[in-house]
Amino acid sequence: MKIEKISKKDNELVFVIKDINPVIANTLRRSMISEVPILTIDEVTFIKNDSALFDEILAHRLGLVPFTTDLSSYDEKDKCSCKDGACAKCQLHATLKAKGPCTVYAGEIQTQDPKIKPVYEKMPLVKLLKGQNLEIDTILTLGRGKQHAKYCPGIIYYRVYPTIEIKNGKEAVKCMKVCPKDVFTLEKDELKVKNLLNCDLCQACSDCSDKIKVSGSETDFIFNIESFGQLPPEEILSTAIDKFDEKLDEFALKLKDVASGKIKKAVTTTTKKVTKKLKKK
Ligand SMILES: [Zn+2]
Repeated sequence: MKIEKISKKDNELVFVIKDINPVIANTLRRSMISEVPILTIDEVTFIKNDSALFDEILAHRLGLVPFTTDLSSYDEKDKCSCKDGACAKCQLHATLKAKGPCTVYAGEIQTQDPKIKPVYEKMPLVKLLKGQNLEIDTILTLGRGKQHAKYCPGIIYYRVYPTIEIKNGKEAVKCMKVCPKDVFTLEKDELKVKNLLNCDLCQACSDCSDKIKVSGSETDFIFNIESFGQLPPEEILSTAIDKFDEKLDEFALKLKDVASGKIKKAVTTTTKKVTKKLKKK
């Protein structure tokens, strides 16, 4: 297996993984989307809400605010040593107080841990008119994308690595114009591939001329990780691999139990048969 970084810009990472198969590629994608824990507002208590928005609408908006996440300091509720899911390791309190007239932004949410704060401070939550007040108590917890979409760490997808064969560059020149992704260029009136990774296998060029053949690899994949900002893309990837590793360990352990159970069952059946035979004698 080979991994090559293509680009890294702010919260977006593009890389290629070579020599794997679609099963591994999809497992990795699913693991990143649904198994990486993220800190998000999970419970909201309204002490005062004079705004035009109903409590449930505002609670929904608060749930979707991304917070910077520190995985080394927090545990998921069901995995926390406190057992009842209510200690400082598995939940974090935050408050929001505002007085109108104003627009209330995500950046005004005050958490008890300075490391954990809203990623986008200028995300508007609600508008308050003169004399209107807002007072909210919230609890943030770690959760996974498979529990609720608000715990999803980003937009993560992959596509197969394209291969473009140009049999005769001079005859295929007309195809450059039909490509919607600016893949080709002209060099001395001959068609050449300029941006291979732009190609999304639409086949517009190969439909236009039989001198071009476009195909997708079955072993190489281009991954895009666009983080919502809670975790850097590299950490999303490494955490997803760790979590998948944990699952494999758990699977191996369960398999051992099942196997030993089978052996035990087989031994019991044989013993019963032998006892029966002995009794007959
Ligand atoms: Zn706890």
